[in-house]
Amino acid sequence: MCGIVAVSGNPEAAQLAFLGLYSLQHRGQEAAGIASFESATGESHRVRKAGLVVDAIKETDIAELPGDVAVAHIRYSTAGGAGLKNAQPIRERFRGGVVSLVHNGNLTNANLLRDRLFDEGALFQSTIDSEVIVHLIARSRAPSTEEQIVDALSQVEGAYCVLITVGDTLYAARDPYGYRPLVIGALPSGGLALTSETCALDIMHARYIRDVEPGELVRIRHGEIESVTRLPKFVAEPQPCVFELVYFARPDTRLWGYTVDRARRAFGRRLAEEQPVDGDIVISVPDSANSAAVGYSERSGIPFELGLIRNHYVGRTFITPTQAGRDFKVRMKFSPVREVLQGKRVVVIDDSLVRGTTSRALVNMLREAGAKEVHLRLASPPVRWPCFYGIDMPTREELIASDKSVEEIREYLHVDSLGYLSPEGMTDAVRENGETYCTACFTGDYRAPLVDAGAGFEMSSHC
Ligand code: AMP
Repeated sequence: MCGIVAVSGNPEAAQLAFLGLYSLQHRGQEAAGIASFESATGESHRVRKAGLVVDAIKETDIAELPGDVAVAHIRYSTAGGAGLKNAQPIRERFRGGVVSLVHNGNLTNANLLRDRLFDEGALFQSTIDSEVIVHLIARSRAPSTEEQIVDALSQVEGAYCVLITVGDTLYAARDPYGYRPLVIGALPSGGLALTSETCALDIMHARYIRDVEPGELVRIRHGEIESVTRLPKFVAEPQPCVFELVYFARPDTRLWGYTVDRARRAFGRRLAEEQPVDGDIVISVPDSANSAAVGYSERSGIPFELGLIRNHYVGRTFITPTQAGRDFKVRMKFSPVREVLQGKRVVVIDDSLVRGTTSRALVNMLREAGAKEVHLRLASPPVRWPCFYGIDMPTREELIASDKSVEEIREYLHVDSLGYLSPEGMTDAVRENGETYCTACFTGDYRAPLVDAGAGFEMSSHC
């Protein structure tokens, strides 16, 4: 998870990057950071703080980030990886100058590379995989900065979108599989913006130009795209992550050629065809399932109602992870609308089922609020495999669908019926131009080598 932003060739680089981070908040809530570079003085600056963007980065911080180039990062919390030392941008000085780096994705051979670098005497400041890239750049004997970056990236495996500044030059790269998104836009006040999602371009009033292509390295100076290089390890079939469309990205973002809202509606329509049920109302688990629920309602003809309200002010809770605690957490987040639910056969649409804990608690809540029947429909297939490419998906043991049948899950959730979208239904719905996707969390089909995971399937400290 995580979100990244860069601005080049604009005197308000840090301010704009802040805006970009603000609309990427859904990609991570643990920490936010911005690094800027002043071409005129050659000085670099950095702020990294814990918390939501709006709490973490204040006007006074922006004032301390002058410059016409900036990179910024929003961090998603992971098991072992909390703490500011793991926040980005990473910033170091090497023979090419000051390098600042932000990364979205997860490297699948970072542990191996880190061990090798340790053996060679490298000193690490963090435990994140992204720092490995900076070391590899600095240690490369290649003759130019650009070639050092290519050399470094040719050694890493897995998922990465990186934005790197070396002095006032900005480099952007996307792994050959293209797991995570990275787009380029033109700013109305001059210069270019690069970011994970188009919703961040929109808030900056930037005009979308194009995606950074899978396996592409782009160099930008003073807001001009100067040259483009292909990274080694060409992949014939890119594997953009389908889960970005299912759950992760914001509905107004345009991703993999689809507005996320449109893709989710298509999942919902297909779900209605594959998993019909007699019901009085369709409701969504807000907000991530709203579009899919609209699609389900459209195709089934069952009216869409607002049966659950989401509290947007919940923030982080510190409740112990007991079952009672989890139920309580769900109650803090969602409230049922009794009048809508009372006596109704309710078709509940959720985007995905991971551990099953949210749904189980929600179903109780809906029944207590008077729902006569509860039919759960999921706008994605059973999640059976962990993600190694940057989505926080737990271990196989924690994934409810890894060892339970649909009927066993139905019983566990206490629903009257349960239906998932099929893997083909999901990919067909977003294959208007023959696109291929990473569906590893549903199918176990991992393409980029899982070097660190081996057979043990242990997640590394990822972003
Ligand atoms: P659960 O089944 O209780 O683990 O949670 C599933 C819900 O969490 C779904 O409704 C999704 O909206 C949301 N979700 C899906 N994937 C993730 C993820 N990787 N991290 C956090 N929430 C997720």
